[in-house]
This record gives sequence, structure tokens and C-alpha cells, in this order.
Amino acid sequence: MILAVSKLQNPPSPARAYRGRFAPSPTGPLHAGSLAAALGSWLDARAHQGQWLLRIEDVDTPRSIPGAAQQIQGQLLACGLQWDEEPVWQSERQEAYQKAFTQLINEGQLYPCNCSRQTITAALKALGVQTERHQELIYPGSCRSQLGLKQENTLAAWRIALPEHCTIAFEDRALGHQTQHLNQEVGDFVLRRSDGLFTYQLAVVVDDAEQGITHVVRGADLLSNTVRQIYLQKALGYPTPKYLHLPLVLDEFGEKLSKQTLASAIDTSTPTHALKALEQAANHLGLQAVTKERFHSIHAFLVAATANWKDRYC
Ligand code: GLU
Repeated sequence: MILAVSKLQNPPSPARAYRGRFAPSPTGPLHAGSLAAALGSWLDARAHQGQWLLRIEDVDTPRSIPGAAQQIQGQLLACGLQWDEEPVWQSERQEAYQKAFTQLINEGQLYPCNCSRQTITAALKALGVQTERHQELIYPGSCRSQLGLKQENTLAAWRIALPEHCTIAFEDRALGHQTQHLNQEVGDFVLRRSDGLFTYQLAVVVDDAEQGITHVVRGADLLSNTVRQIYLQKALGYPTPKYLHLPLVLDEFGEKLSKQTLASAIDTSTPTHALKALEQAANHLGLQAVTKERFHSIHAFLVAATANWKDRYC
């Protein structure tokens, strides 16, 4: 009897149908690194017979390049990576981010902060912490006395106050057990910038939840953001998806390919070029079985790659 009651109180959560996504920032066309992330997330969705959604992450409007999102969509389609629903544009979702932000403000979890990078560096120095020029700074909580202030001061950035003991662990499907002490390794992080823009951390969490994303497959450069996102999911009462971080594509100097390192756009001008780009992406993902074969069509390649992906990652 007791068992039956406790079962009723805690019914097993029904398995949600697989929904994955690819979420490029439109700061340039797809390069070998972002194509590998697109292909990995597409293959995972197809291997699970799930949905694959496209989200254009243009929340940081000043960094978005006009036309880049359309270029990315064209490259994906040329590679046979078709998405299942209308793409979501973060620049159109301010209301949803505002709602989540207001919820956290009303709960007294946020505080305004006027610190500049210089102020933070000086505060860290006073605490005896050495910092490097481009290093992400661990915020020492200088403005925490403002915690609980509910008025939306428009000129300040808004940070979330982390509890002192805040170690979060998760199992990455590729990299295994991951753990981060948020307070010590990141510090109270920004959800809304002083220019009024919501940050990637808030936007991605709200969007993943509202789009019902069950599985996130993305590059390992985003691994260190995951614990912040899990923390926000819990703070907002959202479920946590499963995560898989893919090996990064590095250039000849061992640097991550990115728009900053001027990675060149993949060539999808003909099906033969697109197939070649896909084969290289599969090679980066460790899908050796398909990289040894010759394919006469993108479709045939994607079918074989899905089977290879299933063996390697599922
Ligand atoms: N928009 C991010 C990027 O292009 C990806 C975010 C994500 O997959 O969570 O790096």
C-alpha cells in the first residue's frame, strides 16, 4: 500500500519524445567546425527518430551579420540537413526572456551590477587573484549588497546570486562525468547586460525549455557553459536536457576554428563539394566507417552516417 501511495506521489516522468536542435549564431557562414556540430546534432536526432530544430541565435544583435543566417540555412540545405519546424529567431523572443528575467527578479535572485571589467580586475587583485588579459573573470560579488532590489535599473547589468555551495554535476554522453563549482569557477553571472540585451545563458535556457529540447548536441567549446545553464533551468523550474559535447575541430595551430580565427566557409556550391564537406565533418566526429566508403549521393552518405552514429554514440 505504502509503495502504491509513494508511486502515486512520484509518478515516473514520461519519456519525452526526442527533440534536438542546432543553434548557430549568425556571425558568419558555416565553417568546418560549425558544420560538424550541425551534422552531429542532425545525426543524433535522426538516430533517435526525433525532431531536429533550427534556432538562429541572434540575441546579441550587434554581433549578428546581416545575411549570415540565410547563408547558414542555404549551406545546411545543400548538405541535406533539413530542419523539422519553422526556425526560431532569438531576436524575436524578447518577451519570453523578459518573463523569465522578471520571475527571477521577483524571487529576489538577481541584483544590478555597475562593475566594469577594470573594477572587477581591481577587486580580484585586492583579493590576491591574478588575472590575464582575455581571461573570463570570476566575479567576486562586489555588488551583492544590491540583492533583492526589484526595480529594473536600466543602466546596470543584472547578475544571478549563486549559493555559496553550488557544485553541479552532469553526465555528458561523450565526455562522461562533469562537475563544476559554479561559485568558485564562474561566480555570479550576467543575465542581462547593461545595454539591455539578454545574455546567451538566459536565452538558450528559455529557448531550450520552450522548444521542448530533450537532447543538446554541440561543440565542446560550450561545455563550460553547461553547468550555468543547468543552474538556470533549476532556478526557472525547467527540465534539464541530456548533453553531448562533440570534439572540436582545430586548425593547423591547434586553435578552435571560429570566425575570430577567420575559419573559411565550407563550400557547398555543388553536391560534390557539399558531400566532401560532410565527409570531413564525419571524420572529425570519429565516424570512421563512413569516411572509408565512397558515396554517390548526399542521401546515401547521410543514411550510412546515421547508422555509424548509432554505433558510436547511442
Ligand atoms: N549559438 C551558439 C554558437 O553558435 C551555440 C549555442 C548552443 O548550441 O547552445 O556557438
